[in-house]
Amino acid sequence: MIFNEEFETLPREVLESLQLKRLQQVVQRVYHTVGFYRRTYDEAGVKPEDIKSLADLRRLPFTTKQDLRDNYPFGLFAVPMSNVVRLHASSGTTGRATVVGYTKRDVDTWSELMARCFAAAGLNKNDIIHNAYGYGLFTGGLGAHYGAERLGASVIPMSGGNTKRQIQILQDFGPTAICCTPSYALTLAEAGEEMGIDMSSLKLRVGILGAEPWSETMRQEIENKLNMMALNIYGLSEVMGPGVSMECTEGRHGMHVFEDHFIVETINPDTGEVLPPGETGELVFTTITKEAFPLVRYRTRDISRIITEPCRCGRTYVRMERVSGRSDDMLIIRGVNVFPSQIESVLMAIEGLEPHYQLIVDRVGTLDTLEIRVEVSENIFSDEIKGLQGIERRIKKDVKDYLGVTAGVKLCEPKTLQRFEGKAQRVIDKRTI
Ligand SMILES: [Zn+2]
Repeated sequence: MIFNEEFETLPREVLESLQLKRLQQVVQRVYHTVGFYRRTYDEAGVKPEDIKSLADLRRLPFTTKQDLRDNYPFGLFAVPMSNVVRLHASSGTTGRATVVGYTKRDVDTWSELMARCFAAAGLNKNDIIHNAYGYGLFTGGLGAHYGAERLGASVIPMSGGNTKRQIQILQDFGPTAICCTPSYALTLAEAGEEMGIDMSSLKLRVGILGAEPWSETMRQEIENKLNMMALNIYGLSEVMGPGVSMECTEGRHGMHVFEDHFIVETINPDTGEVLPPGETGELVFTTITKEAFPLVRYRTRDISRIITEPCRCGRTYVRMERVSGRSDDMLIIRGVNVFPSQIESVLMAIEGLEPHYQLIVDRVGTLDTLEIRVEVSENIFSDEIKGLQGIERRIKKDVKDYLGVTAGVKLCEPKTLQRFEGKAQRVIDKRTI
């Protein structure tokens, strides 16, 4: 189902002229209201009037996470605080948090985009949505919440954590959809099994899962364990929150970017050069309707690819492929670039392994080392030692063959590695450089 038929199916040329009009407006606005943009545009020798076509976007400088930190907390807001009705902040795991603000219209837009996402997942006002994204400064909880209400569905504001209670509610309230991170969906499935509950007999039809990169094999695992369709949603607080792009049930390959509100580019992360559609690179977003916190050419560090082929659902937006990693999450092991999600794909293709793993990176002398810790299934673990050795050899060989990296492997007993209630932290980097 399409929530906003008019905008989601605009002919490309109409969509692009709308994008240009909105882009010109936003560039004018940030130039005249935000000191940071005026300064950087003056330095780059570019004026708002120079934006005559969508291709002119690339004349504008990038905005980076560091720029957001430098202007902490409100330096990039384009409206007075009296017009801001909501503040969110990203978790500042590395350095200062970044703060984002919304006007009333921004919250309206966000709610509509999240409602579009739910509709793309096949949901409507008859559905009950179990929202296990964290409520609070993180955008996930409230973003999904407002979208579910806009759709007219019944929303259960669970937030994250308290897994046993979540399972109780899943059983008692019979939600038909769940929003959470993919790793938490697995945690729930496993915890339910442990409590002796048949998690495949819940009423769940669909999971709207995001906020961390995950693999296709992990999707299958979740779909099997919870007996539901698992769809990928994308967003980041700087750009809006969840609902920047979403998979549809028809295509299930790539997430539609709501291009009437965002312009997406892919660039070479090393040179900043804009890549043609279809080539893998770093995603760059420009928000073209946001009032309080517009961002022009924001470098996300997320690695993906733009798909321009039409989708059978009828939406005319381009799609972005699932994020394969972050350019700053990329591990460089003895000169080889590896994303944790690539290792996950290799692991999940091997029979007898559970989707719980950890990557320990260290440096011995001048050499980087990678140790993969992964849980094996109950039946394999109680099996004879020969079977375990076979699996260990297979992991080493596949990681070497597919990714070109030599790794140590440690097979772990079921349910011994850390579980996550929000975003999974799979990498422990012990290197001090
Ligand atoms: Zn589609």
